[in-house]
This record gives sequence, C-alpha cells and structure tokens, in this order.
Amino acid sequence: MSLKYKVFLHSYLGFRSTSTLFYGERDAILIDATQLLSDAHRMVAEIIPMRKNLTHIYVSHFHPDHHFGCEVIQHAFPRAKVVALPSVVKDVVFTSGHKLDTWSIDRMGPETPKATTIPIPLAQPSLELEGDEILLYDDWEGDCINNSVVWVPSLRTLCATDVAFDDWNVWFIESNVERRKKWRVALERLRQFGARVVIPGHASEQSMALLRDTSREYTSCIDWTLDYVDFYEEVYNTARTGEELARLIRNRYPAVKGNDFTIDWLARLLFPKSCPDSFVPLPGKPGEIFLNQFGKYDGDPPRE
Ligand SMILES: [Zn+2]
Repeated sequence: MSLKYKVFLHSYLGFRSTSTLFYGERDAILIDATQLLSDAHRMVAEIIPMRKNLTHIYVSHFHPDHHFGCEVIQHAFPRAKVVALPSVVKDVVFTSGHKLDTWSIDRMGPETPKATTIPIPLAQPSLELEGDEILLYDDWEGDCINNSVVWVPSLRTLCATDVAFDDWNVWFIESNVERRKKWRVALERLRQFGARVVIPGHASEQSMALLRDTSREYTSCIDWTLDYVDFYEEVYNTARTGEELARLIRNRYPAVKGNDFTIDWLARLLFPKSCPDSFVPLPGKPGEIFLNQFGKYDGDPPRE
C-alpha cells in the first residue's frame, strides 16, 4: 500500500499550527505536536480510531507550537519515540525553560505542559515508514532560526513547517531585515523539491479545504508567504507608529484571522512607547520573551 497522509489544523489560540500524520497499512509517523494540550488531545482522539502504530513524533523546530503537545501524544502512544535532528534537539534543550515561562500566562497556562519533552537526536536525517523514506533537512530560515522541512519523495509531499504559511498572519516577531532576506531565499528553495503538495506550518480552515482533497496539487503557500514577507518589508519601512503598522497589515489582509493578535505584539515590540493600551498585551517583558536558542532576541530593534 502506498503511503497516505492526513493534516490536522489546531485551534485559533494554538496559533493554527498544523501537524501531519503520514501512514501506511500498519505504521504512522507524526510531524509536529501542537502547542496546547487540548489541541493535542483532540488530535489524539482522531488518530486512535485510525488503528495505526505510531512509531515516531518528529519535532521540526524549537517553537513550542510544534512540541508542547508531545507528552499528551506519547501518553496515548507510549511506544512512539519523540525525535528531531540533533541541531533541533539542542535548540529545544536551550529554550525549554524559557518557553515554559513565556507561555505560562493567564489564558495559556492551563494548556501548557509542566515540562518540555526533549526529543531523541536522530542518527541520520531520515525516517522510514513501511519501506518508504522520509527525508529531513535542517538549517532552513523561516519564522525562527533553524527550521527543518520534511520531504516524502514517494508522495512528492513536503512539510514546509514554519518556512511557509497560508492564509495566516506571518510571525515576524523573531525576524529582522537580514533574516527576511534569507527567508525569501529559503522560500524559493522550497520549489526545488518539485513537490505536488506543500503543507504549510500554519494555515486556516480555508486552506485545509484544499489540503484535505489529496487528489489535487497544492503549493500556493510558497507564493502566499513570499507575498506577505514582501508586503511586510514595505510596511516595516514606512509605518511611523504601531497603530499605523497594525492598520496597514489588517487593511491588506482583512479576512486573515489566524495569529491576528500577534500583529498587536509586533506593533508593541517595534513601537513600545506609542502603542495604545487596547492592543493585546505581550506575554512578558520585551527582551525577556521570544528568545532564540542562544538566549537572544532576533527581531528588529524598536523604532522609537
Ligand atoms: Zn509554528
């Protein structure tokens, strides 16, 4: 039997991240594990009736919306190994305490695990699923340093994870002018896989309708993200206040709801003095939140 896949879209509060289950006749491998415990439980409730032997949970990068749910999934599938590429394991180790602190805020606290599950480092950049190869590539620029992407040649399907998005407000909080140049290059490089389907790291119900029809090609998330990154660069250069920045983004993408609260966060970080109190508060103090694996903040410096 040739492999199949199923994409899960997580909740609004869970940043609308995606997980992808690749499966054969008996076995299955899950790519990424959600941030919120409730999202992980919902996904488990869908996977259990599929009666598959989950062998691995693969973590694509250190952002918690891709691994905080591991403990729930592993509880349901105790034989599944949580794995990642060695560079990503290191990133998760270095950020685990800090990310737990950042996200233990009011509305997300009860949804956050008590401890981070540290993945096992893979000896090789690949996994095997019923004789088919799943190839793993790290060092991809996306919404953080060192994303990884997942390529299944037999399905010509690529999990772009947090390099590409669809119908979702892109997370620019940890990027700066230089890193966005590399991000554009990474988006163009995604095309070189020649994928039939590119699964974005975050999406909307609308994009899921396209992804659920596995008979059709779907790669438009690459163009969608490139367009958003280019547009943001213009806004970043022209906006003079946080209100103007948020207004310009919302005017351009009025129907995009996923991750909309982080537009306020971005505005607060770039324009800390002039943002109105009505903007959604940050989950901690600037300089102490959204740190990378080296304990540094990667975003553009404040504009005022
Ligand atoms: Zn993400």
